[in-house]
Amino acid sequence: MSADRRLAPGSRIGILGGGQLGRMLALDAARLGYACHIFCPEPDAPAALVSAANTVAAYDDEAVLAAFAAAVDVVTYEFENVPAATAAFLAERLPVRPGPKVLSICQNRGREKSFLNGLGIETAPFAVICTRDDLKEALTTIGMPSVLKTMELGYDGKGQRMLNTPDEALAAFDALVGDSGKKLILEGLIDFAFEASVLVARNPEGAVACYPLVENRHANHILKETHVPAPASPQTAVSGEEIARRIAEGLALEGLIGVELFVTQEGRVLVNEMAPRPHNSGHWTQDAAVTSQFEQCVRAVCNLPLGSTVALGPAVMTNLLGDEAHDWLAILSDPKAKLHLYGKAEARAGRKMGHVNRLLD
Ligand code: AMP
Repeated sequence: MSADRRLAPGSRIGILGGGQLGRMLALDAARLGYACHIFCPEPDAPAALVSAANTVAAYDDEAVLAAFAAAVDVVTYEFENVPAATAAFLAERLPVRPGPKVLSICQNRGREKSFLNGLGIETAPFAVICTRDDLKEALTTIGMPSVLKTMELGYDGKGQRMLNTPDEALAAFDALVGDSGKKLILEGLIDFAFEASVLVARNPEGAVACYPLVENRHANHILKETHVPAPASPQTAVSGEEIARRIAEGLALEGLIGVELFVTQEGRVLVNEMAPRPHNSGHWTQDAAVTSQFEQCVRAVCNLPLGSTVALGPAVMTNLLGDEAHDWLAILSDPKAKLHLYGKAEARAGRKMGHVNRLLD
């Protein structure tokens, strides 16, 4: 590895987005001697509360973005819905990792699936929908049950509807986009045995490190628990990890991504989507892996050697949603629990307030 392309401890990492992922990234970066500078539109963001510097401005404010670019050595994200133009503006001035091309693939479900299929990686069958007629035609090939989703900006089940009947399909079209001209994607419903994910990091020198396959359990479309390792055969685990590795290489990734997967009863592994940043299903790595996903992200974007991804043993990560975070006292009394809270003042229903990692016997 060429030492001159490394960003040594003491360097400044710019982070676009101010949520809990940025907060945990900044904490791990600080432990390695880096200083993080958060750029986000919201004041008092969870990440800003623990970072060396903070800029509160709109993502399209070019004067402020230029000053941010001058104040840091590399830029990464903790949130993928940063405007593509923001990433492109910064990338003209300093390294942005992952690069704007990776961001643009991950921001759009159609581009993402086409990219994956181009690598020979299986996804749900899909069709791009612009009009009600496109939807009627796509239903003749993809059929029902299926899922209609907004092409961009959906998360935690927002911006998507299950379709079981033609009437539901047209109502879902109207509810999701109406006559706004925005695009949708129709996906065939995958009859999965369980949902899973793999985190993978690649540094600019081309080193790749993949974490073990884990199982994700959702409630109301929001991640509730991650189980480590996934209850999968060794072949399935290897094929999930191989897929993540091929994606990292296919993207020429510089950074860390989370790859969400469907595993079928027969052990087939399909990709649902990718996130170009640390992922909620990787929080277990903070207490149950040699290298946390946040440290690994810092290592990847600073072009350092990647850390070991070995799990220390079986573990469960449980998200604390809304009021569940009020149980902090009981959690702190559990000798197996490691509590992580995000410093958010208002515990709205379903809001991610923190999580707990437990190493199992
Ligand atoms: P997404 O926003 O694409 O991650 O979807 C949220 C959740 O909806 C996933 O975690 C799955 O539980 C479910 N889901 C989304 N797309 C599909 C699909 N094509 N087949 C089966 N389940 C899906």
